[in-house]
Order: sequence, then structure tokens, then C-alpha cells
Amino acid sequence: MDYRISERIGKLHSSAVRDILKLTQGKEIISFAGGLPAEELFPLQAVQDAAARVFEKGSSSLQYGLTEGYLPLREQLCGRMSAKGMTVDPDQIILTTGSQQALDLLSRVLTNPGDVVLVENPTYLSSLQVFSMHGLTVIPVESDKDGMIIGSLESLLRQHRPAMVYVVPTFGNPTGRVWSLERRQGLLSLCREHGVPILEDDPYGDIRFDPDAHYPTLYSLDGGGDGGAVFYMGSFSKTVAPALRTGWAMGDRGIVRNLAKAKQASDLHSSTLDQQTLSELIAHYPLDDHIRRVSAAYGSRMRQMQQLLLQRRWSELTWEEPQGGMFLWLELPDGLDAEALLRASVTKGVAFVPGSPFFAGVPKRNTARLNFTYTEGERMRQGIERFAEAVDEFLARC
Ligand code: PMP
Repeated sequence: MDYRISERIGKLHSSAVRDILKLTQGKEIISFAGGLPAEELFPLQAVQDAAARVFEKGSSSLQYGLTEGYLPLREQLCGRMSAKGMTVDPDQIILTTGSQQALDLLSRVLTNPGDVVLVENPTYLSSLQVFSMHGLTVIPVESDKDGMIIGSLESLLRQHRPAMVYVVPTFGNPTGRVWSLERRQGLLSLCREHGVPILEDDPYGDIRFDPDAHYPTLYSLDGGGDGGAVFYMGSFSKTVAPALRTGWAMGDRGIVRNLAKAKQASDLHSSTLDQQTLSELIAHYPLDDHIRRVSAAYGSRMRQMQQLLLQRRWSELTWEEPQGGMFLWLELPDGLDAEALLRASVTKGVAFVPGSPFFAGVPKRNTARLNFTYTEGERMRQGIERFAEAVDEFLARC
């Protein structure tokens, strides 16, 4: 049979990077490519104990649940959000299958095909896939280390009247950047003025290397509540474990009711078992201590990677030292194509992600994203050594 594939799927072409990374399967490759948390730091015993307590309570955890998600976990989230200056009620929160689904549902509810969405440049790769699936036109806003350039944002808001603006203001993916307070306030006031909702994606906000650093979320600056300008998305993927597939979206309760309608059509609800396990975990395990430990470990892995790169004394390679998150964003010399460098690196047994696919407009081909959370110690040293061999060969040819 000849199948007719929908236009929206047809438009999602398989990326060159994914094709190259497929070559790594089955090989002994040191990977700085994926955004994977460190497995050895997962709170395995605590999750096991929490799941055991869920089962001890009886079989209700195996039953269908509310589309909005397990109420006790939403109540616990209200407490956790309030500790970060965010005011929210349980009925302003919907639990989702990772924050990836929150992004998908918000796009379904807040846009129509053909609408425009403004994004940072570069931005989270899989957000671009979601927006493409929904038939949106993605327009990148000129951005620097402090966030979107407010002048650019203003003119694009006027020119395109977008349906929404999507940002990762704290430890962005791929750049690891943190928006300045001034840019956060600038974005908020412009979006309020133009009546454009902001999607604030914050899966990395808790992974900060300085435990005393404070970066106010856009949601907290907006004040939250109904009619607010900001929809906040959070996730337990980096703070507990991604396999529990639990994220959330929060904001105006009318919109949250619509998110529930959209979710019902998609999967009825996310896993009750996972949500109850997380709820038990939060109730009995000092999660914030765990997050501090994981963040400290990631901070030292980032410093190790940075040190190894510095030892190479490449004046041509530059990066901004990240203060949190999971990625180092490298700028290579102009004219050097990171996709070709990846091909060469893979033959030497190391992988990373070239920067191009993170750009909605014209890509900067001489950029690369290196994950520093999944490897450490000797393995990281070996990985950077292999990467360095590939880079040196490239630089010699430039
Ligand atoms: N947003 C950003 C910026 C991400 O980097 C990721 C994945 N790493 C997600 C959302 C989705 O994460 P999850 O679905 O696991 O919560």
C-alpha cells in the first residue's frame, strides 16, 4: 500500500546530525552529545522506596487518574514553586509527560497553523520540532549572552504580531546562558503591552553551580495568577530522573482547563504510578539536598571539561563559562563547519552536537554543544583528547 504521510510529518526532515549520531551506535564512543543526566547520581534507592510505599497503599496507583494529574503532587508543587517566589494553585497546574508535552499542549492551545512564534537564537532544538508540527512560522530574535535584544524583540512583535514567545531564560539549551534581570523585565513589559503570552521553559533552573545564586523566573516577576502573561513549564527530568516522565505547565486556570482538554485527546493522562512515586519521594526524601549535590557534581564536571579545553590553548575556540545547566556552547573559528568536525570526531570515538540545528534562521555552522554531565574523570579526559585530535586536524587545514 502507498501510504500518504501528513504534510506536517513530511516537513520534519530527519536531521543530518541524527544521521551522523546513528553511526555511533554499537561503537565505543564517548558521548558529549545527548542531554543525559549522570545515571550514577540518580536517587535510585529513594525512588525504589517511594515506589514500594505507593504499592503498599494498595492498587489505586494502577488505576486511571485525573487528566490534570495526581492532586497531592500538584499541591506539593505549589509549595515548591512558592519557595521560588511563584504563586500558583493546584488548579493552575497540569502534570504532563515531561515538559516536552507541556510545550506541545501549550502550542496546541495558544496557536493556529500559520501563526508566528518568536524564539531566542539559538534555541532548544526540540521546541523547533514542536512548532513545525503545529504549522507555526518560527522567527528568531537576535540574542546575546544576556538574552533577547529588546530592540529586536520590539520590532518583531510589531511586525509579526506573534501568537507567543518561547524562551529558556535560565541555563538555556544549547547555550547555558542566563538572561539578565533587565532583559527579563523588558520581555515581560513588551509582551504585556502587545498581549502576547510567554512560554517560559525552565528544566534547568535548579541545576545552578552557586547554590546562593538567584535568578527570578519570568512567572514570579509577572506575579502569576489568572490572566498572567507567563506560562511556566517545569520538569523532574533533571532533578530526579527523566524516566519518570513528569513535567508540568502552570498559569491562567482557563488556559490550563484547555490544556487538559487537549491532553485528554492525546493520552487521557500521564502515568499515575510515576506521579504517585514522585509525590512519595518528595514527602519522605530531602529532594533539595539531592538537587544541591547533583548541581555541585555537575559544576565540577563542567570545570573539568573547561580545564581540559583550556589546556589545549586554542585561541580560536571560545565559550562563556556556564553557571548551571548541562551544556558548554563552543564557538569555533569562522569557516569551520561543526558538522564536518563531528564526522571526523566520530571516527576518533567521540561525539557532540553541532550547533546548526538549534538556529531557527541562518545557522552559525561554527558552533557546537558539549554535554558535561554524563561523563567525568578519566573518560571525560579521553573524550576531550579525541575531540582535540579532530579539532587540531581541522585547524591545521584552515
Ligand atoms: N525544554 C528544554 C529546554 C530541554 O532541554 C528539554 C530536554 N532536555 C525539555 C524541555 C524536555 O524535557 P522533559 O520532557 O524530559 O521534561
